[in-house]
Amino acid sequence: MKFGGTSLEGATAFQNAARIVAERIERRPVVVVSAMARFTDALIASVKEAATVGADAGLASLEKHFDRHSRVIDALLSKEGDRLRQLVEQGRAEIRDLLKTAATEQNADRWRRKALEDAVASNGERLSAALLAAVLLENNYSACDVDARCCVVTDDEFGCAAPLMTETFANTQAQLRSLIESSCVPVLGGFIGSTVTGETTTLGRGGSDYTAAIIGAALDSEEIQIWTDVPGVLTADPRVAPKARTVPRLSFAEASELAYFGARVLHPKTLHPAVERDIPVRICNSRAPDGRSTVVVGESEMSPQTVKAIAHKTGVTTVQITSARMLGAYGFLRAIFEIFDKYRTAVDVVTTSEVSVSLSLDDTSALPTIVAELEKLGTVSIEEERAILCIVGEGLRSTPGIAARIFSTISDINVSLISQGASRINLTFAVEEARAREAVMRLHKEFFEQLTEEHTPIDEWGLSLPA
Ligand code: ADP
Ligand code: ASP
Ligand code: MG
Repeated sequence: MKFGGTSLEGATAFQNAARIVAERIERRPVVVVSAMARFTDALIASVKEAATVGADAGLASLEKHFDRHSRVIDALLSKEGDRLRQLVEQGRAEIRDLLKTAATEQNADRWRRKALEDAVASNGERLSAALLAAVLLENNYSACDVDARCCVVTDDEFGCAAPLMTETFANTQAQLRSLIESSCVPVLGGFIGSTVTGETTTLGRGGSDYTAAIIGAALDSEEIQIWTDVPGVLTADPRVAPKARTVPRLSFAEASELAYFGARVLHPKTLHPAVERDIPVRICNSRAPDGRSTVVVGESEMSPQTVKAIAHKTGVTTVQITSARMLGAYGFLRAIFEIFDKYRTAVDVVTTSEVSVSLSLDDTSALPTIVAELEKLGTVSIEEERAILCIVGEGLRSTPGIAARIFSTISDINVSLISQGASRINLTFAVEEARAREAVMRLHKEFFEQLTEEHTPIDEWGLSLPA
């Protein structure tokens, strides 16, 4: 059971999460938590603040967050209160020392800075785990705060570390099995890990979902539950399409596409460990625990209207390489991708014609160097401030008329990089970032809202059907 930062905002939220765990105690849960909402942002920012302004300024920027933890302790803990106050103090002292180091290493390289950020950021998840375990103990449930860094072993790619699965599975089983067998609920911080030499790492922003899936897979769990602030995976981001509603069932492939193309409710890597062991992933609403949820499973099914959800991702850059030398030549694509490989830059969507290759990327930190090298192969053009939209649903490729409906709904919006994934379940394309919200709203209306407005019956998918 993983609780995100939005489900751990303050005392009421911690009490609620503890109640949700307690109500499921017979299923012998293992709990993974995120840092309190907004704390990770603040922790990472404090390292930059320390390096530019000084360690005291960095620490001062965190005081209101330490206070938030203290308020949870004051509200919920009496027996456990003093121990937890001491833990918060220890966290503050550890962070102070790390920020002092950041302040003295102003010219540290990117790798070193990321290592410091990870060490500081890990305090968010570590404090959350200690707090939730204490709330459970206070309510007379047997619970134990486990340092996730003793379970999750990673490489040293700070800020975005990759878990070493064999070591991680062995450690997780060794650390947690006996606790579970003695009916004690282990509570771990998500997002964090440690290298083989013991340096703290993180799995990338939003990575607690991934931790939950790794731990679930290591223990061969019955189900991996992601408890968040919305009722499961919705037909679109509810902040863009307020009428978005729960998709009750998705396949691993469908949910992966949605997560990868911007549905923040699931970290894109979450499903890998679950797929390998065929463990269902359920996305539940911590604000309405018995209400609607989404279950993600191995089998795929077609929904009556084919399209199940729309995801979108902003902050995308597209790159086009054009060269007549490509015509009939081999080795050209390899030459292009070797350049992206060399600068460790991930590419998302790729389309090709006889004489050009277009692709999209999120991370533009190495782009100037990449472009300089690509220019040796052909003419390069860049479009910034783009967004990717991804329409997902089993059977999308075999159902006539869907693409026509999509593009006629947004016919006045310029679309590029149109691609139908090899998985046959998605249609992806780029639009100008400034028009992405409008495109999502219009597509959501076309595929999901017209039917509801007619008050038509709801089928087993929770989607309305024409009368
Ligand atoms: P947590 O703190 O629980 O990890 P996140 O903020 O990471 O929560 O993810 C939940 C948020 O994801 C929702 O509040 C919602 O705004 C956003 N979101 C984006 N797309 C979707 C979608 N298709 N379905 C549900 N939520 C979505
Ligand atoms: N706290 C981390 C973040 O904000 C990890 C997570 O919430 O999943 O990115
Ligand atoms: Mg999240």
